[in-house]
Amino acid sequence: MTDIQTVGVIGAGQMGAGIAQVAAQAGYEVILSDVDLPRAQKGRDGIIRLLAKGVEKGKIAESDADEAIARITAVGEIAPLAGAQLVIEAATEREEVKRAIFTNVGPLLAADAILATNTSSIPITRLAQAAPDAGRFVGVHFFNPVPVMVLVEVIRGLATTPETVAAVEGFAGRIGKTVVQAFDAPGFVVNRILLPMLNEAVFVLGEGVGSVVDIDMGCKLGLNHPMGPLTLLDFVGLDTALEILNVFLSTTGDPKYRPAPLLVKYVEAGWYGRKTGRGFYDYSGAEPVPTR
Ligand code: NAD
Repeated sequence: MTDIQTVGVIGAGQMGAGIAQVAAQAGYEVILSDVDLPRAQKGRDGIIRLLAKGVEKGKIAESDADEAIARITAVGEIAPLAGAQLVIEAATEREEVKRAIFTNVGPLLAADAILATNTSSIPITRLAQAAPDAGRFVGVHFFNPVPVMVLVEVIRGLATTPETVAAVEGFAGRIGKTVVQAFDAPGFVVNRILLPMLNEAVFVLGEGVGSVVDIDMGCKLGLNHPMGPLTLLDFVGLDTALEILNVFLSTTGDPKYRPAPLLVKYVEAGWYGRKTGRGFYDYSGAEPVPTR
């Protein structure tokens, strides 16, 4: 089985930086790459800030934080990824971007290296066609924020080998994550279940069945969820949720995934949630205020 010592991470955004952080904290050497060095360094700087906060709060020893940071090398080109036994792609969620990455990086890698993608919605089997070996191509779906969320979904494409699955499961275990396995289908396990629920919450709101507070409070107290679906949608981003529902709808043709009209309207209005200051709540004041 592939012996993983060095992990390459492509894309130093919120997910890539999180993956780099947890891998470095678990003792792996990490090569963190992005389209240019400043962007890769920005990702590394974010990790330094997060670890410093952890030290301040007494959650992590200063020497452990320093060692983890020293294990992360930020790079603006792909050549250094040749030294990695596992490369995890966490770049922008666009198929042509990911395909180009696999086409360019694939030939650099060792014959037993594993190429993984953190995609939320693009079929693993289809992406594997751009990789040098579909048997050593796999989905590893982390959750946001990566250092906090314990789950990793490992997704087998049609050709992914059991050895590849075992190697990434070993990696996930060493970085302290719990794995659920999924076969390659839109949304895998968690988003497949989550997105229809979030969408239904917007139907319920749009039909006037309940207010924002009724819906969120109802799900929190009635289902024992840590936060209501509309609060969660504001975190995820309404634009992202709409994008994912449209992928489900177009790949399956199943009308159960049709986006709620109010979700579409909010996205058209630019009300994406927390990132734009307004979604189902207004974030302009000290506390979020429900809008309906
Ligand atoms: P992000 O926008 O924060 O980061 C994406 C990064 O990829 C950017 O830094 C960008 O410069 C970089 N990038 C773009 N093209 C590149 C290329 N050719 N080579 C190298 N780097 C490139 O996005 P994110 O939220 O970190 O999402 C990244 C991936 O993780 C997506 O596939 C997304 O679907 C998936 N994901 C996101 C979440 C989430 O909650 N945000 C959860 C699970 C999975």
